[in-house]
Amino acid sequence: MASSSESFCFAAVGDVHGRMNRMVSFLQSWSKRARRDLAFVLQVGDFEPHRDEADLATMSAPARHKHLGDFADYHQKRRHFPWPVYFIGGNHEPHGYLDTHPRGFQLTENCHYLGRVGVIDLRGLCVMGVSGIHDEASFQKPHPPLSLLGTISNKAFTYFHEEDIERAMSFGRADVLVVHDWPSGIIADEDREVLAQQRRSPDADAVGNEYARLLAEALHPKLVLCGHLHKSYRGALIHASGADSQVCCLASVEQGPEAFAVFQVSPLGIQEITHLGTQESP
Ligand SMILES: [Zn+2]
Repeated sequence: MASSSESFCFAAVGDVHGRMNRMVSFLQSWSKRARRDLAFVLQVGDFEPHRDEADLATMSAPARHKHLGDFADYHQKRRHFPWPVYFIGGNHEPHGYLDTHPRGFQLTENCHYLGRVGVIDLRGLCVMGVSGIHDEASFQKPHPPLSLLGTISNKAFTYFHEEDIERAMSFGRADVLVVHDWPSGIIADEDREVLAQQRRSPDADAVGNEYARLLAEALHPKLVLCGHLHKSYRGALIHASGADSQVCCLASVEQGPEAFAVFQVSPLGIQEITHLGTQESP
C-alpha cells in the first residue's frame, strides 16, 4: 500500500475489444470534467491489440467478431495513450503477438502487457495480473508451445494453467488483483433476485471461477478487477481473517460508461469514485 501521504487516482477499464479510441476519449473527458489526473489505467483483458491481420488471425473468436480495431494507430504512433495502460490477456487476444513475451512487455509507448502472470509496483501499489480464463480439462497441463500456433485451436492459448496460479500464489500478496473472469461466490444474497431478473444475467451460483477466488483469498488484495461477462457489478469477498476484498466487475467499452471505474488511492485505502459524470457517453 502507498506508504507516503500521496493521493492519486487510477482508472480500471473492462473489455476493450479493440476500441482503444473510445477508452481514451471517455477517460479524457472524465479527467477534464473532474479536473483530476489519472496516474495509470488497469485493463482486465480482451484488449485486442492487433497490429495487423496476421495478429488478428491468431485470436480465438468466431469470424464475425474478428475486427482489427484501433490498436494499429497506437502501434504506428499516429495516436498515443495519454497515461500508462497495463493490461492482462483475456480469451480474445492475438496470441501470436502477446505470447512471444509471456513475462510481459511494452507494446508501444504507454502500453504494457503484464504477461501470463505479472506483478508491478505502481506508485507504491502492488498490482498483480493473471491472464486467461479457466478450463478444467487444460488446467493441469502446461501451456501449449507457441510453435503449435496455427496447427491447434487458438482457444488452447486462452487459458490460465496450474503453473500460472502457483506462480501468482508464490508472490504472497497484492494490493490489486487483475483477472479476466470473475472470482466465484461474489454475488451478495440481496443481489441474487435482482440479477436473476436481468437479461443475459449470470447465474449467481455458476458465475466466475474458483481459481480467481483462491488467488483473492491467498493474496488478500484490497481490490479485485475483472471483466469477461460484459456486465457491471460490485461485490466483495470476506476472508477468514475478517479482511475483505472489493470486487469490481466491469462492462465492455462498447456498452458505455459501465465499462469504467476510477479509484482514489490515499493513506485511507483504495476508494471508488462513484458517479463518473456520465452525461456524455463515450
Ligand atoms: Zn469480452
